[in-house]
Amino acid sequence: MQIHRIELPTPFPVGPVNVFLLPGDPSTLIDAGPKTEQAQAALEAGLTAVGYRTDDVRRIILTHGHIDHFGGADWIRQRSGAEVFAHDADRSKFEGQRWFVDHLKKFFTEAGLPAAFLQIFVETLISYRELLDPLPGFSPLADGDAVDGGQSRLRVLHCPGHSQGHICLYHDEGALIAGDLLLQGISPNPIVEFTRKGKRVPTLPQYLQSLRRVLLLNCDVAYPGHGEPISNPSARIRELIAHHEQRKEEIRGRLNRKPKTLLDLCQEIYQNLDEINTMLALSEVIGHLDLLAEEKRVTVSRRGRKVVYRGK
Ligand SMILES: [Zn+2]
Ligand SMILES: [Zn+2]
Repeated sequence: MQIHRIELPTPFPVGPVNVFLLPGDPSTLIDAGPKTEQAQAALEAGLTAVGYRTDDVRRIILTHGHIDHFGGADWIRQRSGAEVFAHDADRSKFEGQRWFVDHLKKFFTEAGLPAAFLQIFVETLISYRELLDPLPGFSPLADGDAVDGGQSRLRVLHCPGHSQGHICLYHDEGALIAGDLLLQGISPNPIVEFTRKGKRVPTLPQYLQSLRRVLLLNCDVAYPGHGEPISNPSARIRELIAHHEQRKEEIRGRLNRKPKTLLDLCQEIYQNLDEINTMLALSEVIGHLDLLAEEKRVTVSRRGRKVVYRGK
């Protein structure tokens, strides 16, 4: 598979994001970066270096609905007329959803977070909207679909967890375009998510299932959404699964008969968290609590507006 990696800067702590050009017909871009002038300039420079221009892009395939991956997609589409493909389960993110914030407020209150924190966090989230243009529409991809990108035929794997509509693209020669399912050096966070009606989705159990599924493919190389290609994806998947298993046991070890909120647990485990990192820490710990709840090793109850956890 012919593939060119182009790194684009992002204003997020994760650092630069990868977009990939699959040259040929139809010339295809995997992911689009955020909507910033710096990312747009880096994209144009990266495409020029391999003999392409933004106008030449015929297809954009988005791995998932996080701003660092799709915020600039509509900008590219408007210049090139490219057709955009993505999984329908992230549609509300591509459209720049707003209802997420309301569900998040309730979740934060139940987790034991003070109101002042909520305010700052929500303001940060709203400021991120500058980094995206909502997509007016896209062609939906589903698990098992075959899609042509550049010279290659790719198979769509729906891998929910990090995001509900996260997809990976698999090429028969053993290459995986992995999005944020698999990263080197960082454990991809299964960020807290809700259904439209506000029910929280167990994202970490989903994410682990997606990892196990990809493990069965025994890929030779993975092209992640951030960082260099991963030459032994199966080893990295095993590391990530082991990391979560260890974290789950650590959290179970901190639970006894004294009830703890999600925030209590996060503050025991992590120090000096700012607003965004608190959000990531909450997502991580709630994920492990979901796993422990599935195994019936934790009890969940309410104390006023807060939710508390005890060991079982
Ligand atoms: Zn992501
Ligand atoms: Zn990412």
